[in-house]
Amino acid sequence: MPLGGPPSFNTSGHQFSLFNANPSFPIGGHQPPAAAPIPFIQPSHVQIPSFIPPAYQAPPTPIAPPMFGNNCGCTIQPATHCTSGPAIGARNLETYMKNNFGGTRTEIFNCRDVRGGATTSLHGEGRAVDFYANKADGNRAFEALQTIACQNGIQEIIWDKQIWTDGKGVRPYNGVHPHHDHVHIGLNKCGAEKFDLK
Ligand SMILES: [Zn+2]
Repeated sequence: MPLGGPPSFNTSGHQFSLFNANPSFPIGGHQPPAAAPIPFIQPSHVQIPSFIPPAYQAPPTPIAPPMFGNNCGCTIQPATHCTSGPAIGARNLETYMKNNFGGTRTEIFNCRDVRGGATTSLHGEGRAVDFYANKADGNRAFEALQTIACQNGIQEIIWDKQIWTDGKGVRPYNGVHPHHDHVHIGLNKCGAEKFDLK
C-alpha cells in the first residue's frame, strides 16, 4: 500500500444504513404488537331490520250497500190506480213472511183508497202485504224488515202506530188505522216485480 494514501476507514465490518432491509427487525427494536381484532358484538337492543316487503294493500274501494236481494232500492212510489190482482213480488213477500215470522194470515189485493185518504192504496196495485200477527211476531218482523228493505224494494213498513220509510226511519204513525194487529209492508214497483226472498 503506498504511503500517503488516503486513510482507510473501516468500521469493523459494520455497515449502517437507514434503509431497513429486514422489517422483521424493526428500526429501534420496538414495535407494539398488532392489536387483536375486536369481535363485533351486536348490542341486544338494536334491532336489525330485515327486509320484509310491505303487504299488498288494495286501493280503497267505495263503500257500497251489500249486494243481495233484488237491488230495487226503497224509493217511495205512491199507487195511482187499481190493477187486477196481487203482484208476483207481493205473493213472494207473503210467502217470505209466513216462512220467517209465523203470523196468522196475510192480505194483498184490495182495490181501495188509503184509509182516511183519497189516493189509491198500494193494496189497489197489489203491491202491499198485510201480515197479521201477535205482538211478538209483529215486533220481530217490523225490526227485521227494516234491515232488508232497501235491498229488496220495500218502501214502507207500518206496525203498531209506527211507520218506517227510508231516510226518515221509524216515527209515530198517525193514520186512521193504528196497525196494532198487522204489519203493512209496501213494495215499490221494482219490488212488486222482483221481490224473491224465501
Ligand atoms: Zn196494508
